[in-house]
Amino acid sequence: MSRRGERRGGLRVAVPKQEPISKFLTASGTFQDDDIRLNNQGLRVVSSEPTPNMAGPSDGQLSLADLEMVQVIGKGAGGVVQLVRHKWTNEIYALKVIQMNIHETVRKQIVQELKINQVSQSQCPHVVECHHSFYNNGVISIVLEYMDGGSLSDILKLQKKIPEPYLAIISKQVLNGLLYLHQVRHIIHRDIKPSNLLINHKGEVKISDFGVSAVLANSMGQRDTFVGTYTYMSPERISGGQYAYDSDMWSLGLTLLECALGRFPYQPHGQEEGWLNFYGLLECIVEQPPPAPPADKFSPEFCSFIAACIQKRPKDRPSAADLLTHPFLEKYSEEEYHLSKLLPPLAPLS
Ligand code: ATP
Ligand code: MG
Repeated sequence: MSRRGERRGGLRVAVPKQEPISKFLTASGTFQDDDIRLNNQGLRVVSSEPTPNMAGPSDGQLSLADLEMVQVIGKGAGGVVQLVRHKWTNEIYALKVIQMNIHETVRKQIVQELKINQVSQSQCPHVVECHHSFYNNGVISIVLEYMDGGSLSDILKLQKKIPEPYLAIISKQVLNGLLYLHQVRHIIHRDIKPSNLLINHKGEVKISDFGVSAVLANSMGQRDTFVGTYTYMSPERISGGQYAYDSDMWSLGLTLLECALGRFPYQPHGQEEGWLNFYGLLECIVEQPPPAPPADKFSPEFCSFIAACIQKRPKDRPSAADLLTHPFLEKYSEEEYHLSKLLPPLAPLS
């Protein structure tokens, strides 16, 4: 199967053009892209604009050598995520290690993630904080805030489904994160899915990963991950059309519906074993009416919220700001449905 500009039944999946990493590496081993400079000492934005809350490489605050691995906590298309502990301060972090198998678009998006994360520190309680990033020998390491409840996909593996009242509490927080990304940072997330919504025992939900993983999966030719990654894409993205902030609303709706149903909302017709091929699923998303929660198992407010998110026509989808006023979000109390109830008790760190 050719992966470049593939067409079938009117669908087109855009695949980025390749460029060698050597073009962006300087002789000193520093990775440079526009106003971003990354090397084994850290990341620095070298633009003339001042960047708030940046931990510069020379401030000596965080060095990879000072982080000791506690355990591997997750694995994605781009690499592994480890729980690490700072040797001197005992602070714990999640360390995401991405192997740079580079396409120009991949590189741009990774750099964009680092930039966004680093400037978004402490600016939004619903976006995972990025403490530092390093580049060394083709590997990018990102030191992230550790979310001790893992992701919604981890919860789904344990609990199978997430009850509607908890989804209301989760939705409110994610919408506040999206509102920040869309209205303050002016970025489209592009990869909202259960594994990119992280949770902790305080009951906080935060958005992670800004578009890195989807492109990495594509460029690395990992078909399983490639399929998994693309399934939350809006119809207009799948069709190769223009897309905007409302594309994230589609992905959010599909993510929440998956959490409610305990399975991916699109199901193959008459096939027990899953989709015959990847295009079957893409065609279905583009051509069929969107899925809906069964009205006898969920409240009218939830059904209306999901229907609003997964409108086929992007302009029919409400913005994050609009959705924050939806009655579904006010239906359940945060105290009664504290998100920590979804999580297993905290095990002590070894
Ligand atoms: P893909 O690479 O296809 O986007 P993914 O989102 O599952 O998939 P990662 O972003 O590498 O891949 O995350 C893998 C898992 O690591 C998550 O499902 C979660 O369990 C864990 N994880 C990621 N970041 C953190 C974090 N900051 N704190 C705690 N756990 C995390
Ligand atoms: Mg992720």
